[in-house]
Amino acid sequence: MMHFGLLVIKGYQKLLLIIFKRKSMISTLITSSTTKFIVIIKNIIPVFLLLFFSCNDKDVNSDTVFDYTLHTNNRVASLKMSSSDYDSWINEDGFANTESRLKVVNDLYNVFEDQYDFIFFILNEPSIPENLFYYGKLIGISNSVQGLGFLPYDNSLQYGSNGKLKAVMQLTGLEYLKYGPALHELAHQWANFALSTHSVDAPGEDLSSYLYTGHWGFTGGSTPGQLGGFNQNTLISNGNNSYSVESFGPFANGGNSVPYNELELYLMGMIDVSSVNDFDMFTEITSLSVNESTFDFTAAQRTTYTSSSLVDLLGQRVPGNTSSQKEFNLLVLVITKESLTNEEWDIVDANAEWFSKTESDETSLYNFWEATGGQGSLKIGF
Ligand SMILES: [Zn+2]
Repeated sequence: MMHFGLLVIKGYQKLLLIIFKRKSMISTLITSSTTKFIVIIKNIIPVFLLLFFSCNDKDVNSDTVFDYTLHTNNRVASLKMSSSDYDSWINEDGFANTESRLKVVNDLYNVFEDQYDFIFFILNEPSIPENLFYYGKLIGISNSVQGLGFLPYDNSLQYGSNGKLKAVMQLTGLEYLKYGPALHELAHQWANFALSTHSVDAPGEDLSSYLYTGHWGFTGGSTPGQLGGFNQNTLISNGNNSYSVESFGPFANGGNSVPYNELELYLMGMIDVSSVNDFDMFTEITSLSVNESTFDFTAAQRTTYTSSSLVDLLGQRVPGNTSSQKEFNLLVLVITKESLTNEEWDIVDANAEWFSKTESDETSLYNFWEATGGQGSLKIGF
């Protein structure tokens, strides 16, 4: 695992070198303290002003365990925990703990409407805290789509949603909505439950590959996938079960720097299965060597998937791409123990605006619309 982990981290460092122009935004915040200030002022001002102020005087925290602040652009918000709650959320991975997660999600529905398909928690950290070992994680809440390789389910009620919420996700660094793995985590709503892929932990001889749940592993795609896998077009067969292929990551290919591939877009409901070009899945991998820009490997099993063999395996996707949901509502909440600084608000707000923009930009990163080839879109905000 070490080797591939390093590959991914190197990808991130490269991305961090890209310099983006960020609009400087003047942001005023609705905070608990300004709310109290307004309440005091209200007692000494004329009635017409009082009515004016009442429109903005929304105490969002009257019934909540945590302290919420809504940014004035109505795109992003923060959830402030006490120091001890935050430290245990970070150090004991509160997000992965069902009880802690249920407490947070149920609480936020006291402030936000039940209108979100997805909730992204973003930690107010420069990068992964030392006791967390992931860039991002998705916890599925409900899925009614058929033909993905698993049965429909719905646990939304226990989270406080009436069938709307599909997943909650956590990103462990403040900028991971922009650099990734935001696209990767969203893809996990639909994949990979379809193929029994394989991977290996490190290069070597006499390896025994293992079932690689959730990601594409040693599987080809129209492009290197958000959930890993190689570019099928670069595959060379050397004979005797030996293959060469352009370097790739079995679980990711560089955060938001790659779009979704055809198989991912099909499972997401964005394109028809007939648009998925044939690709190979390799299992029983017995050797791997890593060259400068290519991998050489041997694998005893090569399974070629076509659009019709995918349907034979998974059944039809219901709904198909002509009637599937393609616009999703997303709530972005920064989890923090200190109130966000103006600079932090600017970063998160600009990233949310960019990630949900339905146009391409001049950066090498993909927002959701770009990554879906213009088929899908996100609405972020309240
Ligand atoms: Zn993943």
